[in-house]
Amino acid sequence: MDLVIQPGMTYYRISSIFNVPLQQLLNANPYTNPSMLRIGQVIKVPYYQTHSYKIQSGDTLWSVSQNNQIPLDQILATNPIDPYQLRVGDTITLPVRINNDILNFDQLYTSERLEDDLFTLVNQYPFISLREIGRSVQNKPIYEVSIGEGDKHVHINGSFHANESITTSVIMRFLHDYLLSLSSGEPIRDVNMNAFYDQITLSLVPMVNPDGVDLINQGLPDDEAIRDLVLSINNQSTNFNNWKANIRGVDLNNQYPANWEIESNRKRQQPSPRNYPGPYPLSEPEAKTMANLVEEKGFDRVLALHTQGEVIYWGYEGLEPREAQTIVNEYGRVSGYIPIRYVDSHAGFKDWYIQEYRRPGYTVELGRGTNPLPFSQFDEIYEETLGIFLVNLFFEKRGWDRIK
Ligand SMILES: [Zn+2]
Repeated sequence: MDLVIQPGMTYYRISSIFNVPLQQLLNANPYTNPSMLRIGQVIKVPYYQTHSYKIQSGDTLWSVSQNNQIPLDQILATNPIDPYQLRVGDTITLPVRINNDILNFDQLYTSERLEDDLFTLVNQYPFISLREIGRSVQNKPIYEVSIGEGDKHVHINGSFHANESITTSVIMRFLHDYLLSLSSGEPIRDVNMNAFYDQITLSLVPMVNPDGVDLINQGLPDDEAIRDLVLSINNQSTNFNNWKANIRGVDLNNQYPANWEIESNRKRQQPSPRNYPGPYPLSEPEAKTMANLVEEKGFDRVLALHTQGEVIYWGYEGLEPREAQTIVNEYGRVSGYIPIRYVDSHAGFKDWYIQEYRRPGYTVELGRGTNPLPFSQFDEIYEETLGIFLVNLFFEKRGWDRIK
């Protein structure tokens, strides 16, 4: 919510009145000078929504506070009013802390709905940072959300493949639940989330391939040139269930410079719904965007979410570090998914990450069935994946025992 600064207010006082960690309050207001808050200035306070309340006969601020279970000092901080001058019919603002769901998870995402939901979250939790890291072939934004202040940087992405967008829902649900847990103080599976804000910086790219996802979940785009291109790649069929590629028929997870030539020689030689590695490595803006992000941030761990198979790929050419196995065993324990070290495959995002950085990188294949997995599997898949997300918040082994 927005808060108008009244006399005597400091960030420290606001942090204590509203029970918001000072660092999160400061991060929510990056363009203000913390030591020079001006009266009348508007700042953002995370975790709160505002409701209007009309004063009734017999009300006092005290009774309003009691009846709505909102501390009096919060009401006073939110309303520049003289409590003795309240009249029946006056409207005041009540700050209400978020303790329930603010997003719906009832259908697969399009890129537009993703954008709406990301803006909703940023509005309610202004300490998270949302930025556009690149654009797709159709010029749709690719977003990264970061949250936290820690030295350890964990990256998770979803929907590299068009018909695997349930992975976007899983990432969004985790982001939503993590933020809700910070607000409400309710732990997730007995793990209290508050400690992680200062220890871990989470980077999430929920939808790497927005054009492809929209093709599956929305149908053919309006742009006639693109329609013609897509139909010719798809043999004039309007059934896109098999489509994994980006909108011009390049498989984005076959685009990375990790023995790309091997894949290029044995796979499709022209644009296809799947398995065409492209004319050269990182030829596609979506793949290039993700490579740039990794090079900029130098993550400590990366997870790329795909569907399906309930397995976790964790090795590449013996270049993976020893701890990659320890971590993947934990993923397996909490999810029931099977770790697989090597497959005959190259040029994937995690292959390239392991090759370049020698750090733990994973491809997680969520769920079981035929892609695109129906949304009815979402709850089950989220439950399986949640443990993996929680394991990722720990960089010391002993924390893992707490995760079930
Ligand atoms: Zn995939």
